[in-house]
This record gives sequence, structure tokens and C-alpha cells, in this order.
Amino acid sequence: MTTADILDIKSLLSSPKNIVIIPHKNPDGDAIGSTLGLYHYLKHYKHNALVIAPNDYPDFLKWMPGESSILKFESQRSESEKHLKNADLIFTLDFNALHRIGDMETSVEESEALKIMIDHHQQPDDYAKYVYSDVNMSSTCEMVYNFIEMLNDTKVIDASIATCLYVGIMTDTGSFRFPATTSRTHQVIGHLIDKGANNSEIHNSIYDTNSYGRLQLLGRALQNLKVIPELQTAYISLSQEELDTFNFKKGDTEGFVNYALSLKGIILAAIFIESKQDQIIKISLRSKGEFSVNEFSRNHFNGGGHTNAAGGRSDSSLSETIDEFISILPKYKSELAL
Ligand code: 5GP
Ligand code: MN
Repeated sequence: MTTADILDIKSLLSSPKNIVIIPHKNPDGDAIGSTLGLYHYLKHYKHNALVIAPNDYPDFLKWMPGESSILKFESQRSESEKHLKNADLIFTLDFNALHRIGDMETSVEESEALKIMIDHHQQPDDYAKYVYSDVNMSSTCEMVYNFIEMLNDTKVIDASIATCLYVGIMTDTGSFRFPATTSRTHQVIGHLIDKGANNSEIHNSIYDTNSYGRLQLLGRALQNLKVIPELQTAYISLSQEELDTFNFKKGDTEGFVNYALSLKGIILAAIFIESKQDQIIKISLRSKGEFSVNEFSRNHFNGGGHTNAAGGRSDSSLSETIDEFISILPKYKSELAL
């Protein structure tokens, strides 16, 4: 994003506009945190701002300031389409390609609104007039903070903005431990705490609100953990039947893949989760060091993401998908073998 871009955006925002802010489908803490953080910022200047999420998200995000104002395209389609049609500006946050918003793609494509992308995923598509893309950033929330700073406006950051941005930085950095966490990330976090983000309460609200069923499901996931030591790989699978047994709710499997990655000596971890509703196997991939799960997922599982965290999908059955995964691994022997 150039200085000229910032000047343009400043002038666009100098009078109240109809603004829609969109996170990716199956939004996570960074997607909801960044869109709500920007929402509160724009509301401060009396813009008619609204977050429209492609679909629902986990309960552990449903306490965030402004959360109840979010429209869900999947269940509130006609109202959402009306807002998209009337929008002067559309911000797309925490995703790099319009297919990441699922059924919402066409309505956004067809909207004449000026589009602004803020995102940290690799290989951004070229659909927005203004693009702030930086794959080295910890989170889109840190980028929204930078965006407000570029607008010379960190003084208006209040407790609501600070809380929302804190959530996304915390969740996308695995609580400040992934390699993209820099001293600057900590400085931003420090500033957000000064502005009223209650760090301890936020951690509790996100991480300490497990249901009994979720913990039991984690138990099953850990029982299902398989290790291929010679290729430094570990993976977990969960069938629809297992999800049903433990009363699965959206978001319950968040973070499970990290247990596979936490095994000593493992550099590639995966979780395969069956979805009867979507008729797919949803795959989450994590890695340590140089091994790019972004490339791996792009090449084999129709997905993408970051070097060390990516996702994808398969239309085959659960067991076929796992067999396919295992059969692909030897191709990466030079990177994975001990
Ligand atoms: P997760 O495994 O937690 O769903 O996603 C890990 C990272 O990969 C996130 O940054 C997420 O946005 C990205 N990601 C997940 N699924 C997909 C996908 O199907 N396509 C692409 N391009 N990125 C994905
Ligand atoms: Mn993110």
C-alpha cells in the first residue's frame, strides 16, 4: 500500500460511506477480530459499516464487542445482498482470493463497490483496487493496527478496537509463539493492552470455555493419532460418526492439529475431518521450519495458506484421503526424511 493509496483512502473515508467488511468462510479469531476491529474504527467516524460473514463461526468468538451486529450470508442472504449492492466500499480481510468466501463470491464480484484487501496469505489474487498484503505479518489484526497507524489515527483506538485486534493477534500467533511473532507484534499488543484490551480475560474467553464434549472429542482425536517417524509426520483423523458421538459444534476441532505437531521430532502434521454436510474431508496442515504446507496443500489438496499453516480439502472418502496423503509423502522425502 503506497502513500498515494493511503491518501486516496483517507479522502474516501472523509465523508460517511456505506461500508461492508468481509472475513473468509469459517472465520477464525483473526478473521472476526480484524473485521470487527475495523468495524469499530469506521463506526467512530459515523460510517454505515457492517461486517458480513459468509457463514457461522464458533461460540468462543461470540462474546466479542460488536459481534451481535454481524450478518451471516448463509442464513441472512437477502439482507446481506442488499447491503452488498448498496455498498460504496468493501473491505475484504484475512483472505487472498474471492473463492475463500464461498457462495458470497458472486455477489461481491458483481458489486460495484470499491474493494480494499488487507491480508497476510500467500499469492493474493488481483480483485481489489487497493491491496495491503504482507505474508510476513503475524495476523490480519496486526495489519489493521498498521492500517490505522498509516491513517495516522492510533489515537482513536478504544477498548473495543483493542479487544478485537488482540484476539486475532493472539489466535493467529498461537498465543505469541509462532515464528511470525516479532518484537513489533509485542509492541502492538502492549499498545492494545494500554488502550483497554484485558489480556487475561481475553485468553479465558477464547481458550477456557471448552464444553465437556469438546474435551472428550480431543481425547478421541489423540487416540486416533498416527505417526510416521521416518518421515517426521503425524496425523489425526475424525469421522463424522466420531464427531456426532461427542456432540461436535463448529470450532470444536480448532487447534487439535497442533497436538500432532507437538510430538518431539515431528515437522509435518495433519488432521483430516469428515464433513457429511459439505461432502468433503477438510484438511488442516501444520509444519515446522522450511517445509511449506502452503505449497503442499496447493499441489495436492486444493487449498493454501501460509508456509507453516495451511488448509485444504478432498472429495474422496476419509480413508482414501489418508491413503492419498501417505502415498504423496515419499515425494517430499528430501525435506521430510530424517
Ligand atoms: P486452518 O487449518 O486453521 O483451517 O487454516 C490454516 C490457514 O490456512 C489459515 O490461514 C487459513 O486461512 C488457510 N486455509 C485454510 N483452508 C484453506 C483453503 O482451503 N484454501 C486456502 N487458500 N487457504 C486455506
Ligand atoms: Mn489470519
